[in-house]
Amino acid sequence: MRLVVLGGGESGVGTAILGKKKGYEVFLSDFGKIKNNYKEVLILNQIPWEEEMHTEDLILNADVVMKSPGIPDKSPIVKKLKEKNIPIISEIEFANKFTNVVTVGITGSNGKTTTTMLTHHLLKQGGLNVGLAGNIGKSYAWQIAENKFEAYVLELSSFQLDGVIDYKPHIAVITNISPDHLDRYNYDYNLYIEAKFRITKNQTEDDYLIYDADDEAITGWLEKNKIRAKKIPFSLTKTLEEGAYIKDNTIYTNINNETFIMPINELALEGKHNVKNAMAATTVAQLMRIRKATIRESLSDFQGVEHRLEKVLKIQNVQYINDSKATNVNATFFALDSMTTPTVWIVGGVDKGNDYAELMPLVREKVKAIVCLGVDNSKIIDAFSNVVDVMVETTSMTEAVKIAQKMAEKGDTVLLSPACASFDLFESYEDRGKQFKNAVQSL
Ligand code: ADP
Repeated sequence: MRLVVLGGGESGVGTAILGKKKGYEVFLSDFGKIKNNYKEVLILNQIPWEEEMHTEDLILNADVVMKSPGIPDKSPIVKKLKEKNIPIISEIEFANKFTNVVTVGITGSNGKTTTTMLTHHLLKQGGLNVGLAGNIGKSYAWQIAENKFEAYVLELSSFQLDGVIDYKPHIAVITNISPDHLDRYNYDYNLYIEAKFRITKNQTEDDYLIYDADDEAITGWLEKNKIRAKKIPFSLTKTLEEGAYIKDNTIYTNINNETFIMPINELALEGKHNVKNAMAATTVAQLMRIRKATIRESLSDFQGVEHRLEKVLKIQNVQYINDSKATNVNATFFALDSMTTPTVWIVGGVDKGNDYAELMPLVREKVKAIVCLGVDNSKIIDAFSNVVDVMVETTSMTEAVKIAQKMAEKGDTVLLSPACASFDLFESYEDRGKQFKNAVQSL
């Protein structure tokens, strides 16, 4: 069997290694540049590869193609593969052929990484030999080739799910759905919602789907479509017979006639959105029979994830918070919602068709000044100039942080939560977050 891998990043190289180990004739092709450390791995494993081009004769000769999640369906090589009816699958789908491990699959528009890392933490503290993969860290296929774990928690983007044919998680989680990445779905929100629900399409009666029952996109889809998995909701607003909910500032999860209880103020992570993430992770842990005392302890000692409402420093009693991963309006909504003191808000970047209306009440209530950090800030200025008195524009992170420091008074918060992608001024959201932290540290 000839396996062609498109994309020489983490999932591509992992797939190539697994394919080679399983006896495939492998060829890897990347239209961009491949990082040196990956090239060394390919050479070491005697896997032929090319970069900065696609040799069509070799690619169109494949029996199966693994397409890395970053490559859009619109790209010419993918179109040609489709014309020739060559199967195109995702890394998760390919790796799934060679393993029977139990997986927890976590998707959603926001909260995937946090919920995945938190779930992994709970299961690991509970004594399971559990790996972490998907969009995080070492690729799933690579880890399956190394065969180290009995279970995995996988962060699954909609692009990973697009290439799913047979894969199913034993436990699926959909954290929430709001418009994002619509450019990859012909600007059709329904197609994006469908992609997220591919996580449950192969599940059976023995499997579970955990989901946000307050999310209309999710509940709307579930009303119209039948699924086989057992549904377990979580909610901030409703009391539930089975599932997770809030009463008297306390999380309750009723799962299989067992109730877990934990006051919200004992959670390590702050913010309403993190209460939801904690409810989802707890539900998974209960289904995997982790002891309640362990769940409670692990929820209260979880360290959080870099660039997600990350507390950087307190300087002259002003708290600086890095939420660089907030690349859409919904993520920023929860960041602003969790602010408890007057906030200087650093916002801006590449607009993804943002609608700022839902932020208006929060901005009115919490934001005292806005620093626009983007090449084109016109939409943000139009949206908020009547709401916030002080608005300043800059294209430098160092400047932005200095301006914010000047505007903040004792007891205030400076929040970087851009609601936009980072590519106008930064390499990535990680780069943006790191530059923010450096700028804060050098104040
Ligand atoms: P993802 O992996 O889906 O991008 P992350 O956990 O990396 O999600 O969080 C991305 C951004 O969304 C961060 O700014 C974070 O504070 C915010 N966030 C985290 N969980 C949620 C949630 N359940 N709902 C909305 N926003 C969230």
